[in-house]
Amino acid sequence: MPSVFSKIIKGEIPSHKIAENDDFLAFLDINPLAKGHTLVIPKKEVDYIFDLDGSTYQNLWSFAKDVAKKIEKVIPCERIGTAVIGLEVPHAHIHLIPINSVSDINFSREKLSLSQEELAEIAAKIKAA
Ligand code: AMP
Repeated sequence: MPSVFSKIIKGEIPSHKIAENDDFLAFLDINPLAKGHTLVIPKKEVDYIFDLDGSTYQNLWSFAKDVAKKIEKVIPCERIGTAVIGLEVPHAHIHLIPINSVSDINFSREKLSLSQEELAEIAAKIKAA
């Protein structure tokens, strides 16, 4: 089902991209829980992550691993936490979130308010890592 993420894939709306190949895309979450909070998506329009075909599902996690390794080089943190929620945007995605404690990955928490310039700077650093 087309969603805001399809528009990001097509470049119809802006995003702060971190990594991309023919099948997958990683970009910064616009309302991050932490600096470096990234979304990793397949380019296929599938809503529910567990409805992805087996190879897309496995390759999505493999792509997410490569992205997580870049994030942790740039954002000081204990580790990169992962979460799959999917209640807001009906396009499969993995959240990658730099965390130091379990409370850092609480989605009920108030989100950071980062300017476009700050997001662009973070994305550029992670991209270059
Ligand atoms: P969920 O579907 O519950 O996993 O949440 C969707 C996530 O997508 C939220 O963390 C939003 O902040 C994020 N999001 C929604 N629209 C955009 C956008 N245009 N660019 C980047 N992130 C977005």
